[in-house]
Amino acid sequence: MTRARLLVLNAALPVLDYRVPHGMSVEHGSVVVAPLGPRQIIGIVWEPERLPTEEVGDNRLRNLLQVLPVPPLSAPLRRLIEWTADYYCASLASVARMALSSTAALQGGRTMTEYRLASDAQPPARLTPQRAAAIERLAGEQATMRELAEMSGVTEGVLRGMVGVGLLQAVQVDLDRPYPAADPDHDVPALSAGQQAAADEMVAAVATSGFAPFLLDGVTGSGKTETYFEAVAQAIRMGRQVLVLLPEIALTQNFLHRFEDRFGVTPVLWHSSLKAAERRRAWRAIASGQAQVVVGARSALFLPFARLGLIVVDEAHEVSFKQDEGVRYNARDVAVIRARFESIPVVLASATPALESMTLAEAGVYKRIVLPDRFGGAQLPDIQICDLTQQPPERNHWIAPPLVEALKARLERGEQSLLFLNRRGYAPLTLCRSCGHRFECNTCSAWLVEHRLSRRLACHHCGQEQPMPTACPECGEADCLVACGPGVERIADEVREILPEARVLLATSDTLNSPEKIGDFVTAAQEGMVDVIVGTQLVTKGYHFPELTLVGVIDADLGLEGGDLRAGERTYQQIAQVAGRAGRGEKPGEVVIQTRHPKAPVIAALAAGDRDAFYTAETEGRRAAHAPPFGRWAAIIVSSEDEAEAREAARAIGGTRPNLPDVAVHGPAPAPLSLLRGRYRYRLLINARRSAELQKIIREWLGGLKFPASVRVGVDIDPYSF
Ligand code: ADP
Ligand code: ZN
Repeated sequence: MTRARLLVLNAALPVLDYRVPHGMSVEHGSVVVAPLGPRQIIGIVWEPERLPTEEVGDNRLRNLLQVLPVPPLSAPLRRLIEWTADYYCASLASVARMALSSTAALQGGRTMTEYRLASDAQPPARLTPQRAAAIERLAGEQATMRELAEMSGVTEGVLRGMVGVGLLQAVQVDLDRPYPAADPDHDVPALSAGQQAAADEMVAAVATSGFAPFLLDGVTGSGKTETYFEAVAQAIRMGRQVLVLLPEIALTQNFLHRFEDRFGVTPVLWHSSLKAAERRRAWRAIASGQAQVVVGARSALFLPFARLGLIVVDEAHEVSFKQDEGVRYNARDVAVIRARFESIPVVLASATPALESMTLAEAGVYKRIVLPDRFGGAQLPDIQICDLTQQPPERNHWIAPPLVEALKARLERGEQSLLFLNRRGYAPLTLCRSCGHRFECNTCSAWLVEHRLSRRLACHHCGQEQPMPTACPECGEADCLVACGPGVERIADEVREILPEARVLLATSDTLNSPEKIGDFVTAAQEGMVDVIVGTQLVTKGYHFPELTLVGVIDADLGLEGGDLRAGERTYQQIAQVAGRAGRGEKPGEVVIQTRHPKAPVIAALAAGDRDAFYTAETEGRRAAHAPPFGRWAAIIVSSEDEAEAREAARAIGGTRPNLPDVAVHGPAPAPLSLLRGRYRYRLLINARRSAELQKIIREWLGGLKFPASVRVGVDIDPYSF
């Protein structure tokens, strides 16, 4: 190659041509450094015919500077990057950056310097307050200077000073230190006949390789994990890599333990809060092929695996696989596309598959594998509906009499209960009894949520917090603030009031905010040190607590409000998942669902334990609305810090809407969160027949418009909630 066309990662110009100097060897996918004006850019060498740009004469080309010492991105990964950018109307560079994780990391060497407290250093008799604080907060930590500064809250300058006097010591981390090898035969469980048949199908697909998408549709507690672990084992035996995507980091601890039991080692982890050194080490091992099994959040999907042999998406129906900022992609769908480009099997595992996945399975596009029974003969729980209009709780309480009785019975028998409410904090709204003032976020259109444990008011959209006021800022009255409605903290208080002797544990991302705390929670629950768990969606999936026999859903209607197109499906999934926590051991489980709408199709299907009835009703509703999978939706979100500017831009887009028979455009209208992080948001919704070339239409439509830099226009293909 004497000329190279680059997909540029870190400059405004997306595509540039360069000359390959004598003695330098590059291929498609090579990651290279090149000059642009006075600065240096990083790019990926791409097939020129797939990346059209204006041709530049040879004599005007500048030389590439350097090929980075990382393996070239493979052709399947390059095709994945193109597909994702094209399908989600994103730029190639923004997708490619996800594959390279961090361009800075590519230029580093094989080692990295981290620091930790020196064990043998004698702290001087008098420490400055900052040094004392750093010593206290950094006990047991080892990280880069920048990360230590963040953890300790003191500046890098102070930390450097501590290195100078020997309080902190440098440690060289070897980024090529291999991960320990997994043993596919470490501890193989005896599978039930149904599990074995399911495992055999997936193992055979891994053995023959080739694209093979599976929907592993198994009820909660059927042992989906044990079953797909056999396919993982097969890939390991063949020297191929495996990627397992999990919807949430909170679930990872549990998964790691089970993986270690089965394979003797922990897998390689990939998520956004990895420290820099571990992140680079993992990236290098993934790219070299040394990392055998990688467990990660959705961003792991774009990593440059050298020998990928299998992808598993666990809890594949989960909303968190959809990314809502930057490149707005759905990892579940992109996983299937990656498997197609890599010619390998992909397993979507779920007890409550998305309707899209079910439809594809019915059409024969996905091979459906069904595990209809719980492992070891455990029965699915008995489901009771509590009609809150008939049996209301006491005033300012949220647990109705039937659920109170059920809780008492569990406590007497020494069994566990779980109460589910998907709302963090104590109360979703605080108002002043005297003047009616309501506490609202000043940069989002949302109420501030009271967190009584931390004595703060917080916005759940932008994260802003303030100390809980004691007086009303509007009228100055003291002792006049009223908490309206329940969050999990308030439900936990109510349980303590009803059952003063019960041991209550609050499980939310506020209380379980580290892997250690999640580990402690699982141990406490498994060893019977808790009587009542009160939790958010954090506890709805994945866990297996043998003594848990009662699940109470505090407000089944919460998710059904708002007219969101997927509200029914999401509510069904969430309640079916949390119900699935009950009765997984030898004792039968019971579920009490509190609702004001017992006749709603979702609730009725849950009550009857009739999943097919739910899918049938949902299918009809979607078909009538031309909603996915029968039609397609896209959203265009326009935002600006200036309300009028956002409105004008949205109107300009609306004014040039395409006039096509198979595409309907709704709006613009204020987006559901019309103010978010200080930006005013307007939205247009596009509903298209399946036959329409939706992305092409949107690109041409928006491509003809120009907006000031202060306006952001984002496209969301297959949006999740609207
Ligand atoms: P699911 O993910 O389908 O809800 P899990 O994979 O969590 O189900 O399995 C439920 C429980 O049953 C887990 O504790 C698991 O270890 C156990 N289990 C499943 N299959 C087997 C098996 N073949 N041998 C032993 N234990 C099993
Ligand atoms: Zn806010």
